[in-house]
Amino acid sequence: MKNLSTKAGVLGWPVEHSLSPRLHNYWLKKYGIEGSYEALPVEPEKLAALLKALPVQGFRGVNLTIPHKEMALKIVDHIEPLAQQVGAINTIIVREDGSLEGRNTDVFGFAQNLRAQQVDVKGKPVTVLGAGGAARAAIVALREMGAAEIRLVNRTREKAEMLKREFGDLLPIYEWAEYPKAFEGTSLLANTTPLGMKSPETKSPFDLSALPKTAVVTDIVYTPLMTGLLKDAHARGHKIVDGLGMLIYQAQPAFKAWFGIEPEVTPGLRATMIEAL
Ligand code: NAP
Repeated sequence: MKNLSTKAGVLGWPVEHSLSPRLHNYWLKKYGIEGSYEALPVEPEKLAALLKALPVQGFRGVNLTIPHKEMALKIVDHIEPLAQQVGAINTIIVREDGSLEGRNTDVFGFAQNLRAQQVDVKGKPVTVLGAGGAARAAIVALREMGAAEIRLVNRTREKAEMLKREFGDLLPIYEWAEYPKAFEGTSLLANTTPLGMKSPETKSPFDLSALPKTAVVTDIVYTPLMTGLLKDAHARGHKIVDGLGMLIYQAQPAFKAWFGIEPEVTPGLRATMIEAL
């Protein structure tokens, strides 16, 4: 399939809230690429037909957001091994022959956001709050980064057990009510639950006093940028890493795959994104 246009987008339901168009259009403009990246609302029952039509509609690829990340895995023609491990794809690339390749760039986004802030978890214990889709990406990323132990704290124990069955002994489970035990001696605390989202006034439910002062605290939530958890951590002197970085870094490999240029993550881009929060 030759002469692909420079069309890409994000599919979700709903999708109006997505910041991905702002991000990719910033890069398209910066690199002088004549193309477009749009938010496309797609009902779950229409996802398969729409994905199959991407090549004939001239798309280079798309991103997927809630609720399509898991379902799309069953629709695409090729899946990278990392996405298989996560059980979800957030990026589709239309190959030259018109087949669809699914990747998961949330893993790279989560890891790169930490690496960019010189966070090193190699050989150290880390703690993850949550056991949903974002947690799965974070767990695969932390395993790739060489964490010695990934302590999992989730409200519903069964969901944590499911992850433990997949990831094995690397993943000790802690009861939600006993989270302080999982904080003791940890090198990183990562919130992957939606707790703290869109509620700047809401206080974080977590008491951080069991966290070592050297622990880094990161939040996958980025609306607001400074969640209650990050505010508390900052006040206690912890190094903090916000969730906007993950959103930006997960877009980097997707843009490269579609448009052939590795886009730069710059303070200007971050400022543009913050304006939209
Ligand atoms: P998900 O699959 O629905 O999982 C949500 C997880 O949060 C579950 O483990 C759930 O626990 C837990 N949870 C939800 N509400 C809770 C509450 N009130 N108290 C305690 N635990 C609660 O969602 P997801 O796809 O993982 O997304 C989670 C968050 O990550 C969302 O806010 C999403 O926007 C964000 N995210 C950010 C990025 C980024 O680039 N920064 C990327 C992906 C996702 P149970 O198992 O008990 O239900």
